[in-house]
Amino acid sequence: MSEVHKFIFNGLPVRGIVVRLTDTWVEILRRRASNTSVGAYPVPVRDMLGELVAAATLMQANIKFDGAMVLQVFGDGPVKLAVVEVQSDFSLRATATVIGTVDDKAALSPMVNVSGAGRCAITLDPKTKFPGQQPYQGVVPLIDSKGQQIKQINELLEHYMLQSEQLDTTLVLAANEEVAAGLLIQRLPMQGSANLSGSTVGQDGDDQIGLNEDYNRIAVLASSLKRNELLTLDVDTILHRLFWEEHITRFEPLRGASGPRFSCSCSRERVGRMILSLGLEETQGILHERGNIEVACEFCGLQYHFDAIDALQLFASPEGGVSAGSGPH
Ligand SMILES: [Zn+2]
Repeated sequence: MSEVHKFIFNGLPVRGIVVRLTDTWVEILRRRASNTSVGAYPVPVRDMLGELVAAATLMQANIKFDGAMVLQVFGDGPVKLAVVEVQSDFSLRATATVIGTVDDKAALSPMVNVSGAGRCAITLDPKTKFPGQQPYQGVVPLIDSKGQQIKQINELLEHYMLQSEQLDTTLVLAANEEVAAGLLIQRLPMQGSANLSGSTVGQDGDDQIGLNEDYNRIAVLASSLKRNELLTLDVDTILHRLFWEEHITRFEPLRGASGPRFSCSCSRERVGRMILSLGLEETQGILHERGNIEVACEFCGLQYHFDAIDALQLFASPEGGVSAGSGPH
């Protein structure tokens, strides 16, 4: 079962989250494999996407926010795009676009950062927006502060959190064909939002990046977690092995209906809007060539079929609504 476990270190400005996605992750892979036009992911792409899914779930669990956390990698290699969308209720979907071949043992750079032009975008898209409100978006290159290519997804997001939130973060991520999992440890700012146990009074320097001894000790422990352990051990065992000398308080795990689960928000109406955005001329061109328009959702594999009458009716109705016309297929 897919689950999110949150915990805090009693009296210390440090908190942690473990996510473990099993059925949810297998569902994402199953849908991809059954889409015959694209087929299953090459293994390194699968594992990268799994790590991104785990990371986006951790990041959504780490903020108080009502809306979608969207993590995107825009690659300059064979992986053109990897995207994960996690809603505040942990319903999620993910996909990657691969064009060309990916070596069986390909590392991150040959997949998404061949010429150093790869980018990662993190978007917070609120569920309810006031008029004109844009989603918040942060973009970072796949290059670290020393100008080196980032080799792992966890490094990328640690770097992002440090830059955008000014918070020390340690991430351990891993994925295979059955599990996508991650551990996040983060130093909390002592001013303002305190650790829930609330007893820490910081000394000079304690509240600065890299200087909190408690965080540094816990981060070293967290980093000792091996990928294989993260994939195979249950959460109780992981937390006990890493932090048996620390005092932690755990919260009720989020699983089942309140935990991570696959859900796709695609609809015929959205596909209709996409066709409208092509413009009448291009739509007529496609209809002339193929007779109809077939669109498969990249996330869930659902096929949307618009024949010539459906497609042209989109342009005929005054507000471009898709509800007018020949109805759902
Ligand atoms: Zn879909």
